[in-house]
Amino acid sequence: MAKLKISELFYSIQGEGRFMGVPSVFLRTFGCNFTCSGFGMPNRGELSLEADTVAVNHTLKPYATYKDLPLVSTGCDSYASWHPTFKDLSPMLTVDAIVDRIMEILPFGEWRDEHLVITGGEPLLGWQRAYPDLLQHEKMQGLKAITFETNGTQLLTTELKEYLWKWAGIMGKGRGALTFSVSPKLSVSGEDREEAIKPDVIHQYEQVGFTYLKFVVASEDDANEALEVTKMYRSEGFSGPVYLMPVGGVESVYTMNNKNVALLAMKHGLRYSDRLQVLLFKNEWGT
Ligand code: SF4
Repeated sequence: MAKLKISELFYSIQGEGRFMGVPSVFLRTFGCNFTCSGFGMPNRGELSLEADTVAVNHTLKPYATYKDLPLVSTGCDSYASWHPTFKDLSPMLTVDAIVDRIMEILPFGEWRDEHLVITGGEPLLGWQRAYPDLLQHEKMQGLKAITFETNGTQLLTTELKEYLWKWAGIMGKGRGALTFSVSPKLSVSGEDREEAIKPDVIHQYEQVGFTYLKFVVASEDDANEALEVTKMYRSEGFSGPVYLMPVGGVESVYTMNNKNVALLAMKHGLRYSDRLQVLLFKNEWGT
């Protein structure tokens, strides 16, 4: 039976993008191909940071659970889902164990209107091999909608692509049931443009599901870069919508720029995405 290394598995309201406000199960896998050190995150191996950003002490290992981990004000708010320091907090679970846990956290013990968010880290790394087993589990048959939250750099394996195509098409869920929420990393992330912007990958996602871009922006410069990058995707055939979403993992930072980002979205005819988890739940782990 397939296994997945799971950082978090929780039930909440989707705070971002197309399914904002929809009750959702979040399955957060461990591992990412980026570190986004431009956001003020540690490079792999640099494990001593300021206490008010992300306190990481490799020697003391002070954090026993996700609930103990500090929150970030800017940067990668899911750092513990990829940083090696925290890998011990992410158990390797069988598909059966994951499904049992999902049934426990669903309010009625079965899928009704809830949607599944498969996120990370980057959920389309090697874990792709486990998703067909997960989705074809007998207790997952009531699931009607899935979103993969991805940085948009990983091609789908042939096996997963074919499986998702059947899941969304032949099996009757409908093509709109499968969504790829793609958050490409702009230069502020510190990642190289050639590595971060992959129009051919997005094109592949569009072949099997509804796909949109969601850029995290803090300034007009970021918004302009998002427009420039969007043109690169459009020139390769991308036809989906584009969201601007304000930076900010804590309310004080978020509320400094959310209105400005909304105005920038209006100015450029783009969609605005909120981050309801910041306002409703202070972006705590498990929300
Ligand atoms: S791609 Fe996303 S999960 Fe990975 S390091 Fe960057 S912000 Fe974090």
